[in-house]
Amino acid sequence: MTTIDVAVLGATGMVGQQFVARLGNHPWFNVTRLAASERSEGKRYEEATVWRLPTPMPEAVRNLMVDACVPGRGPKVVFSALEAGVAGEVEEAFARAGHIVLSNARNHRLDPLVPLLVPEINSDHLSILAEQRRVKGWSGAIVTNPNCSTVVLVMALAPLQRFGLTSAVVSTMQAVSGAGYPGVPSYDILGNLVPHIGGEEEKIETETLKILGSDGGRTMHTMVVSAHTSRVPVIDGHTMTVSVQVEAKAELDDVREAFTRFSGRPQELGLPTAPVPAIILHEEPNRPQPRLDADLGGGMAVSVGRLRTCPVLSYRFVAMGHNTVRGAAGASILNAELMQAELQCLS
Ligand code: NAP
Repeated sequence: MTTIDVAVLGATGMVGQQFVARLGNHPWFNVTRLAASERSEGKRYEEATVWRLPTPMPEAVRNLMVDACVPGRGPKVVFSALEAGVAGEVEEAFARAGHIVLSNARNHRLDPLVPLLVPEINSDHLSILAEQRRVKGWSGAIVTNPNCSTVVLVMALAPLQRFGLTSAVVSTMQAVSGAGYPGVPSYDILGNLVPHIGGEEEKIETETLKILGSDGGRTMHTMVVSAHTSRVPVIDGHTMTVSVQVEAKAELDDVREAFTRFSGRPQELGLPTAPVPAIILHEEPNRPQPRLDADLGGGMAVSVGRLRTCPVLSYRFVAMGHNTVRGAAGASILNAELMQAELQCLS
């Protein structure tokens, strides 16, 4: 197929850089426009950006001029890594002007007419796009991906749906890259743990129910989620301990099999960045660990380990995933691949 031109909004930030890196060698997408704030506008990308990834900045983008976030210009397909303070209005203006916006920000995730997509779990939620267009009057669209902890939790819960999920208690240990740059001051986080991340617990508790819900996400799942969130001195990879209650208590071997056999539309369609397997079940007692496991499956696989029964609820385990890849840029790119494969709406 011929490649599809795409833009990245918020291209200079932590998530924006992941977009630029991952799109740099993508077989379907070609970055032709980069946009950010007034601070960066009019500068070459390499001048405007303090590159913070271990892989080099792709040659093709070094000399691209960073543009303002003005809709109506450039490619139809727009990946957004904008700060939430501006993302709401800017993304909507792009959708109104005919762009397909793949958003990482929280602003539109709980809008009942905006898909909150995890392609392995709820690819059918794309069906609400027709109604989104009709009701909102947009000639484009907005599709979102979840909060960086929610996606790890929901990927680990989805295989257990067959047993009837009723409740889950999750405690997160979240990496500093999840707070953007410069993020949490080093004096606060080094040798320490900060047991509060503003707004994060509510996002995990609500987004999970929309993703696992029905009718395009308009009917929330009935399970109850209780979240505790903490920031820890880890660079990349959000780890969480999860205890879950199910209706039909199964043998641990059945739960193990549910994790290892889990896959969805991205794997069936062979999408370019679909991880195979989608979930990696670790049997070693000291895994998963963010430093060792965050990059598995190109950063797109979710790791689960320490699976055992729970004396309070049914089962307990540890889950971990890469927060700026599966939890952000990689998730948006997989959403775009799914939309093109299923609806051919990006070209
Ligand atoms: P970040 O490093 O602070 O980057 C923010 C980006 O937004 C920069 O490119 C910045 O451009 C741009 N920006 C700020 N104000 C703007 C304005 N008024 N107009 C246009 N552009 C503006 O943040 P991040 O961690 O990459 O997060 C980006 C988004 O993804 C946020 O909504 C965040 O909640 C979400 N998210 C992050 C993660 C994660 O793990 N980090 C995970 C999931 C979702 P300049 O450089 O020009 O200022």
